[in-house]
Amino acid sequence: MSVDKISEAKINLLDALKDIEHQIKSLSQQDPLFGFISSKYIKCGRENCKCKQSPKALHGPYFYLRLEPEYKFSKYLGRKVPSSMKDRISVGSNIKELERKRKKLSSTLDNIDYF
Ligand SMILES: [Zn+2]
Repeated sequence: MSVDKISEAKINLLDALKDIEHQIKSLSQQDPLFGFISSKYIKCGRENCKCKQSPKALHGPYFYLRLEPEYKFSKYLGRKVPSSMKDRISVGSNIKELERKRKKLSSTLDNIDYF
């Protein structure tokens, strides 16, 4: 690659990085949650309940919020996931995605002189 091409590529990468930084910053102001919603069906434990006989009759789904790191934290949500929580989780995963892009771009930028 010629020196001009390299500088041009660098400038483009730096612009892209700046853009990503900006997006991350603005998403971070929207109270993101980093995690996901899991659900499960349960047996209630009542002796005469149909859930004791058949797996098809289990109760639920009941929802849980699992948060990073390692998703160990689990918060019981009940039968419904608040839509505001879904929004915050989606903001969180958008940030994660942008951070992955940022990492990729930064390493491209670090290696560009060796092309
Ligand atoms: Zn039951």
